[in-house]
Amino acid sequence: MADTLSGGCACGAVRYETEADPVVMLNCHCRDCQRAGGGGYGAFVIVPQAALRLQGEPRYYKTVGDAGRAVERGFCATCGSPVTAKLERLPEVIGLLAAGLDDPSRFKPAMDLFTQSAWPWDHMHPATQKLPRGLS
Ligand SMILES: [Zn+2]
Ligand SMILES: [Zn+2]
Repeated sequence: MADTLSGGCACGAVRYETEADPVVMLNCHCRDCQRAGGGGYGAFVIVPQAALRLQGEPRYYKTVGDAGRAVERGFCATCGSPVTAKLERLPEVIGLLAAGLDDPSRFKPAMDLFTQSAWPWDHMHPATQKLPRGLS
């Protein structure tokens, strides 16, 4: 039985919730996630997009990754918090930034992606699956 997963940005202009079970939880160490989040990686809870109720309108910034596929990262236009990420190749899901969850302790990453662009100061949990690039 799924619990409600909820969260949002720092100022509350963007809020979301879903009862769906996450598809996967992961850390992405690609350069775009590093720049968008200001840290070593982006921590994402991936959920079915159709099951997500979103209040407020994130502003989206689109980047095209090494594989030529676009990622749109949503952030609050008022406070700047990153909140969501949409993947062109996986339109049925949406990523939620783990730090934006109301209870971030529910984030349990199973894998680390794009470890080829991780930095020596970015230590990873030994138990996660490590992929040098994205999900192929
Ligand atoms: Zn905000
Ligand atoms: Zn990334």
